[in-house]
Amino acid sequence: MKRHYPEKTRTTNAFNIYYIKQFGVNGVYFQDSIFVKHTASLRKVENGLDEPLPRVTSHELGHALSLPHRQNVTNLMASGTSGFALSAEEIQRARAAAGKFGWIKPAGTLLAEANRLFDSGQKADALRIYQSLALLPFETPQLTQARRRLKAGAGR
Ligand SMILES: [Zn+2]
Repeated sequence: MKRHYPEKTRTTNAFNIYYIKQFGVNGVYFQDSIFVKHTASLRKVENGLDEPLPRVTSHELGHALSLPHRQNVTNLMASGTSGFALSAEEIQRARAAAGKFGWIKPAGTLLAEANRLFDSGQKADALRIYQSLALLPFETPQLTQARRRLKAGAGR
């Protein structure tokens, strides 16, 4: 496996994700790295995600965040299906596991950090964080403020 993930391609503050052409399985999580077969295929289930690469990547991220297999076919952690659901308990477990990685920060923590940087005049650093937060697919007053500051900063 080592030749598939040379040291120079690895980082210690993110999961390393490799998409590879030939692989015996759809994907695997191994030593802080995720390997996904470029031609991964899944057994379709009702209301499943018909996009193998993001589904398999998400499944392997689930393993990285401590989730074991669960063979309910509509579940993200089912092997080889297009299922993508997670139970409330799995979400809690994954969040708790994420908290143990020093480089994973909750959105609220990042937002507070960005606001502190912004208010102290370090706007370029703040805008970099706002840019990441702006991608989150929901609306809150705090995210609206981050998007407004990002838009204003980008227009300078
Ligand atoms: Zn698995």
